Amino acid sequence: MRLIMVGPQGAGKGTQGGLLAERYAIPHVATGDLLRAEVREGTAVGVKAREFMERGDLVPDDLVLEMLERRLAKPDATEGFVLDGFPRNAAQAEALDRVLARGGHGLHGVVSLEVPDDVLVERLSARRTCPTCGRPYTQVGGRPVRCDDDGTELVHRADDTPEAIRRRLAIFHEHTMPLIAFYEERDLVIHVDGVGSVDEVETRIVKELEARAS
Ligand code: AMP
Repeated sequence: MRLIMVGPQGAGKGTQGGLLAERYAIPHVATGDLLRAEVREGTAVGVKAREFMERGDLVPDDLVLEMLERRLAKPDATEGFVLDGFPRNAAQAEALDRVLARGGHGLHGVVSLEVPDDVLVERLSARRTCPTCGRPYTQVGGRPVRCDDDGTELVHRADDTPEAIRRRLAIFHEHTMPLIAFYEERDLVIHVDGVGSVDEVETRIVKELEARAS
Protein backbone atom coordinates (compact mmCIF):
# COMPACT_ATOMS: atom_id res chain seq x y z
CA MET A 1 0.00 0.00 0.00
CA ARG A 2 1.59 3.25 -1.16
CA LEU A 3 -0.46 6.27 -0.24
CA ILE A 4 -0.05 10.02 -0.36
CA MET A 5 -1.89 12.44 1.91
CA VAL A 6 -2.47 15.82 0.27
CA GLY A 7 -4.07 18.74 2.01
CA PRO A 8 -3.30 22.14 3.43
CA GLN A 9 -1.56 22.52 6.79
CA GLY A 10 -4.02 21.73 9.55
CA ALA A 11 -6.24 19.52 7.40
CA GLY A 12 -5.36 16.49 9.52
CA LYS A 13 -2.78 14.83 7.25
CA GLY A 14 -0.52 13.98 10.20
CA THR A 15 -3.29 12.56 12.37
CA GLN A 16 -5.01 10.62 9.58
CA GLY A 17 -1.70 9.58 8.01
CA GLY A 18 -0.64 8.12 11.37
CA LEU A 19 -3.90 6.20 11.71
CA LEU A 20 -3.68 4.76 8.19
CA ALA A 21 -0.06 3.75 8.78
CA GLU A 22 -1.10 1.89 11.93
CA ARG A 23 -4.07 0.24 10.23
CA TYR A 24 -2.03 -1.04 7.27
CA ALA A 25 1.22 -1.63 9.24
CA ILE A 26 3.32 0.65 7.07
CA PRO A 27 5.44 3.67 8.10
CA HIS A 28 4.03 7.18 8.22
CA VAL A 29 6.64 9.29 6.44
CA ALA A 30 6.09 13.01 7.02
CA THR A 31 8.69 15.26 5.41
CA GLY A 32 7.84 18.07 7.88
CA ASP A 33 8.66 15.72 10.80
CA LEU A 34 11.85 14.50 9.10
CA LEU A 35 12.93 18.11 8.50
CA ARG A 36 12.15 19.15 12.08
CA ALA A 37 14.29 16.24 13.32
CA GLU A 38 17.17 17.40 11.07
CA VAL A 39 16.82 20.94 12.49
CA ARG A 40 16.77 19.64 16.09
CA GLU A 41 19.84 17.51 15.49
CA GLY A 42 21.65 20.40 13.78
CA THR A 43 22.55 18.33 10.68
CA ALA A 44 23.73 19.99 7.45
CA VAL A 45 20.22 19.59 5.98
CA GLY A 46 18.67 21.01 9.16
CA VAL A 47 20.91 24.08 9.20
CA LYS A 48 19.98 24.85 5.58
CA ALA A 49 16.25 24.07 6.01
CA ARG A 50 15.60 26.04 9.17
CA GLU A 51 15.13 29.55 7.81
CA PHE A 52 12.82 28.38 5.01
CA MET A 53 10.67 26.52 7.51
CA GLU A 54 10.40 29.36 10.00
CA ARG A 55 9.20 31.71 7.27
CA GLY A 56 6.66 29.14 6.08
CA ASP A 57 8.44 28.75 2.73
CA LEU A 58 9.15 25.45 1.02
CA VAL A 59 12.59 23.97 1.64
CA PRO A 60 14.52 23.55 -1.66
CA ASP A 61 13.50 20.38 -3.52
CA ASP A 62 16.97 18.83 -3.65
CA LEU A 63 17.36 18.87 0.15
CA VAL A 64 13.93 17.36 0.75
CA LEU A 65 14.27 14.76 -1.96
CA GLU A 66 17.62 13.50 -0.76
CA MET A 67 16.30 13.18 2.78
CA LEU A 68 13.13 11.41 1.59
CA GLU A 69 15.02 8.94 -0.58
CA ARG A 70 17.15 7.99 2.42
CA ARG A 71 13.99 7.38 4.45
CA LEU A 72 12.22 5.33 1.76
CA ALA A 73 15.30 3.15 1.34
CA LYS A 74 14.93 1.87 4.93
CA PRO A 75 13.68 -1.73 5.23
CA ASP A 76 10.36 -0.82 6.90
CA ALA A 77 9.26 1.11 3.79
CA THR A 78 9.74 -1.67 1.27
CA GLU A 79 6.13 -2.90 1.50
CA GLY A 80 4.56 0.53 1.47
CA PHE A 81 4.21 3.87 3.21
CA VAL A 82 1.91 6.78 3.86
CA LEU A 83 3.59 9.92 2.57
CA ASP A 84 2.53 13.10 4.30
CA GLY A 85 3.66 16.55 3.17
CA PHE A 86 5.35 15.23 0.02
CA PRO A 87 5.07 15.89 -2.89
CA ARG A 88 4.27 19.58 -2.54
CA ASN A 89 4.89 20.76 -6.09
CA ALA A 90 5.12 19.35 -9.62
CA ALA A 91 8.91 18.85 -9.51
CA GLN A 92 8.58 16.75 -6.33
CA ALA A 93 5.73 14.69 -7.84
CA GLU A 94 7.87 13.92 -10.88
CA ALA A 95 10.84 13.05 -8.67
CA LEU A 96 8.65 10.69 -6.64
CA ASP A 97 7.53 8.97 -9.86
CA ARG A 98 11.18 8.38 -10.73
CA VAL A 99 11.98 6.95 -7.27
CA LEU A 100 8.96 4.63 -7.40
CA ALA A 101 9.65 3.54 -10.98
CA ARG A 102 13.19 2.54 -9.97
CA GLY A 103 11.71 0.08 -7.48
CA GLY A 104 9.03 -1.03 -9.96
CA HIS A 105 6.27 0.34 -7.71
CA GLY A 106 3.15 2.38 -8.26
CA LEU A 107 0.87 4.45 -6.06
CA HIS A 108 -2.42 3.10 -4.68
CA GLY A 109 -4.11 6.36 -3.87
CA VAL A 110 -3.80 10.04 -3.14
CA VAL A 111 -6.02 11.09 -0.26
CA SER A 112 -7.04 14.72 -0.64
CA LEU A 113 -8.21 16.09 2.72
CA GLU A 114 -10.43 19.07 2.07
CA VAL A 115 -11.00 21.76 4.71
CA PRO A 116 -11.95 25.45 4.20
CA ASP A 117 -9.22 28.03 4.92
CA ASP A 118 -11.04 29.72 7.83
CA VAL A 119 -11.30 26.39 9.68
CA LEU A 120 -7.58 25.77 9.00
CA VAL A 121 -6.44 29.11 10.40
CA GLU A 122 -8.50 28.47 13.53
CA ARG A 123 -7.09 24.94 13.94
CA LEU A 124 -3.47 25.96 13.35
CA SER A 125 -3.57 28.96 15.67
CA ALA A 126 -4.78 26.68 18.46
CA ARG A 127 -2.38 23.83 17.62
CA ARG A 128 0.39 22.78 19.99
CA THR A 129 2.97 20.19 18.99
CA CYS A 130 5.24 17.77 20.80
CA PRO A 131 8.82 18.87 20.00
CA THR A 132 10.09 15.32 20.57
CA CYS A 133 7.74 13.22 18.42
CA GLY A 134 5.90 15.86 16.36
CA ARG A 135 2.43 14.74 17.47
CA PRO A 136 -0.05 17.63 17.11
CA TYR A 137 -2.61 18.56 19.77
CA THR A 138 -5.46 21.03 19.82
CA GLN A 139 -4.71 23.30 22.77
CA VAL A 140 -7.28 23.17 25.53
CA GLY A 141 -7.86 26.44 27.39
CA GLY A 142 -4.21 27.56 27.25
CA ARG A 143 -3.10 25.06 29.92
CA PRO A 144 0.41 23.65 29.52
CA VAL A 145 -0.14 20.14 28.22
CA ARG A 146 2.35 17.31 27.92
CA CYS A 147 2.62 14.76 25.16
CA ASP A 148 0.66 11.59 25.97
CA ASP A 149 3.34 9.47 24.30
CA ASP A 150 6.58 10.80 25.82
CA GLY A 151 5.65 13.43 28.43
CA THR A 152 7.46 16.31 26.67
CA GLU A 153 5.95 19.76 27.20
CA LEU A 154 4.06 20.87 24.09
CA VAL A 155 5.16 23.94 22.11
CA HIS A 156 3.58 26.30 19.62
CA ARG A 157 5.35 25.56 16.32
CA ALA A 158 7.45 28.49 15.07
CA ASP A 159 5.52 28.37 11.77
CA ASP A 160 2.04 28.25 13.34
CA THR A 161 1.93 32.07 13.58
CA PRO A 162 -0.78 33.97 11.63
CA GLU A 163 1.78 35.32 9.15
CA ALA A 164 3.45 31.98 8.44
CA ILE A 165 0.06 30.23 8.32
CA ARG A 166 -1.16 32.62 5.61
CA ARG A 167 2.06 32.14 3.68
CA ARG A 168 1.83 28.35 3.87
CA LEU A 169 -1.80 28.37 2.74
CA ALA A 170 -0.93 30.61 -0.24
CA ILE A 171 1.87 28.21 -1.22
CA PHE A 172 -0.50 25.27 -0.88
CA HIS A 173 -3.05 26.84 -3.22
CA GLU A 174 -0.45 27.89 -5.75
CA HIS A 175 1.91 24.91 -5.86
CA THR A 176 0.32 21.90 -4.20
CA MET A 177 -3.32 22.11 -5.37
CA PRO A 178 -2.30 21.60 -9.03
CA LEU A 179 -0.99 18.17 -8.00
CA ILE A 180 -4.56 17.05 -7.51
CA ALA A 181 -5.13 17.47 -11.26
CA PHE A 182 -1.83 15.67 -11.95
CA TYR A 183 -2.98 12.60 -9.96
CA GLU A 184 -6.61 12.99 -11.07
CA GLU A 185 -5.47 12.14 -14.60
CA ARG A 186 -4.35 8.76 -13.28
CA ASP A 187 -7.57 8.26 -11.36
CA LEU A 188 -5.70 8.11 -8.05
CA VAL A 189 -7.41 10.88 -6.09
CA ILE A 190 -9.75 10.13 -3.21
CA HIS A 191 -11.54 13.33 -2.18
CA VAL A 192 -12.38 13.38 1.52
CA ASP A 193 -14.23 16.00 3.53
CA GLY A 194 -11.77 16.78 6.37
CA VAL A 195 -14.25 18.63 8.58
CA GLY A 196 -15.49 16.55 11.49
CA SER A 197 -14.08 14.44 14.30
CA VAL A 198 -10.92 12.36 13.83
CA ASP A 199 -13.06 9.19 13.85
CA GLU A 200 -15.53 10.53 11.30
CA VAL A 201 -12.79 11.55 8.88
CA GLU A 202 -10.93 8.26 9.35
CA THR A 203 -14.13 6.31 8.59
CA ARG A 204 -14.62 8.31 5.38
CA ILE A 205 -11.05 7.63 4.20
CA VAL A 206 -11.09 3.90 4.99
CA LYS A 207 -14.48 3.44 3.30
CA GLU A 208 -13.16 5.03 0.11
CA LEU A 209 -9.89 3.10 0.18
CA GLU A 210 -11.67 -0.20 0.73
CA ALA A 211 -14.19 0.53 -2.00
CA ARG A 212 -11.26 0.98 -4.38
CA ALA A 213 -9.51 -2.18 -3.26
CA SER A 214 -12.62 -4.36 -3.77
P1 AMP B 1 4.57 20.36 7.60
O1 AMP B 1 4.90 19.73 8.91
O2 AMP B 1 4.21 19.36 6.54
O3 AMP B 1 3.56 21.47 7.74
O4 AMP B 1 5.92 21.05 7.07
C1 AMP B 1 6.53 22.10 7.78
C2 AMP B 1 7.49 22.85 6.88
O5 AMP B 1 8.53 21.95 6.44
C3 AMP B 1 6.89 23.42 5.62
O6 AMP B 1 6.26 24.69 5.79
C4 AMP B 1 8.14 23.52 4.73
O7 AMP B 1 8.95 24.62 5.13
C5 AMP B 1 8.90 22.25 5.10
N1 AMP B 1 8.52 21.09 4.26
C6 AMP B 1 7.87 19.95 4.63
N2 AMP B 1 7.71 19.12 3.58
C7 AMP B 1 8.25 19.75 2.52
C8 AMP B 1 8.37 19.43 1.14
N3 AMP B 1 7.88 18.28 0.62
N4 AMP B 1 9.00 20.34 0.33
C9 AMP B 1 9.49 21.50 0.80
N5 AMP B 1 9.39 21.88 2.10
C10 AMP B 1 8.78 21.02 2.94
